[in-house]
Amino acid sequence: MRVRAYRFRAYCSKTTTRVLKTQLEVACKLYNTLLHAEQEEYEENKRTMSRNELRQLALDLRKQNKEFQVLYSQVAQQVADRFYEARQRFFDGLANKPREKKPHRYLSLVYSQKGWKLSNWREVGQGKNKKKKARLYLSKIGFFTLVIHREFPLERVSQVCVKLYPSGRIYVIFLVEEPEAEEQQSEKPKNAVGVDLGITRLATLSDGRYLENPRPLERSLERIRLLQRRLSRKKFLSNNWIKAKRRLAKQYEHVKNLRRDLFFKLGVLLSQKYDVLVLEDLNVQGLIQKGVTKTRRMRLYDSSFSELRAVLEWEFRKREKLVLPVPAYNSSRECFLCGGINKGLTLEDRVFLCPHCGFILDRDLNASLVLLKRAGWVPPDAPVELRPIPPLPSLGLRGQGVAMIQEAPAFRRGSSHG
Ligand SMILES: [Zn+2]
Repeated sequence: MRVRAYRFRAYCSKTTTRVLKTQLEVACKLYNTLLHAEQEEYEENKRTMSRNELRQLALDLRKQNKEFQVLYSQVAQQVADRFYEARQRFFDGLANKPREKKPHRYLSLVYSQKGWKLSNWREVGQGKNKKKKARLYLSKIGFFTLVIHREFPLERVSQVCVKLYPSGRIYVIFLVEEPEAEEQQSEKPKNAVGVDLGITRLATLSDGRYLENPRPLERSLERIRLLQRRLSRKKFLSNNWIKAKRRLAKQYEHVKNLRRDLFFKLGVLLSQKYDVLVLEDLNVQGLIQKGVTKTRRMRLYDSSFSELRAVLEWEFRKREKLVLPVPAYNSSRECFLCGGINKGLTLEDRVFLCPHCGFILDRDLNASLVLLKRAGWVPPDAPVELRPIPPLPSLGLRGQGVAMIQEAPAFRRGSSHG
């Protein structure tokens, strides 16, 4: 089974928002209490608690402590699950040791099958803007109005997550379990595409096409830099600082939404034409090392790379096509033609010039061809021509794809330049 998330914007009264905030604080406290209990247990008995023990402990704490009773019982259990999973990731060497959580970092509550109800479905809007609204009741919190901009299999929902974003917006996320598409083995895939992800150019394909950061995205990034400067001039934790901080958070979310939208469109474009997608395999270690030295602006890109990869993978897997990650080591310095390494290549060089065989090609295009070669595909003999992908909405995808409209988040409206 694989889990799929459907995220919808949620609106509620000020009172409900307050209740939600209180519950998030309480859930955070419960999380930290469990963490301390686990530490004590380990110091005294040199053992760790199982998932069920942690769940039971969460329920016991809830019974004994009035404060924890504001949480719905399954939500309290889920706090235990969250801690358990954080600890497992640490045991598996995938994450740092779980630490005490800070209240302002604890932003979501999860309901499982019980404790929530959707009702009062109605259609709103005309024509293209037609969508549904529904009322969600979360036990012990209250009512939310959801804007349901795409269909989702309500009967297969396994968890409902309510999340308060730093901008103050609230989203509700439905997790749906879907049977995994079986890997296809027998039929030999026909055509493959290598994709090099970059900063100046978002993506360069081995067929010569490339995708630049679209203008609205660039504008939003500029605005983020402006807002960051403004924030730095405000007095820390003053009212104006808090206001500026929220404005910045809104802009970040706007950029995130723009990107997601773009990523899904690119995913559809590629997966419709190609059977195999070859990407560089960024290992976690590499990402961490990059993170240390890079500026804030770059880090913003780092996180979007992993999202772009996830979206592309998702689009390919959905169509039962293949995604091949290949080692990224030196991929931009290797000559696609002779395999020699251009040691002198710097980040500023936009053109790759091979010191061994004299081959000249656009830097990113060379890198995407190297990736393709590493995955065992033979790239075309004739040199491909470098050309931009036209702005994605004009590709006719909108008309063609219920699928695409479903994938693209439609909650950007009204969020611009917030
Ligand atoms: Zn060469």
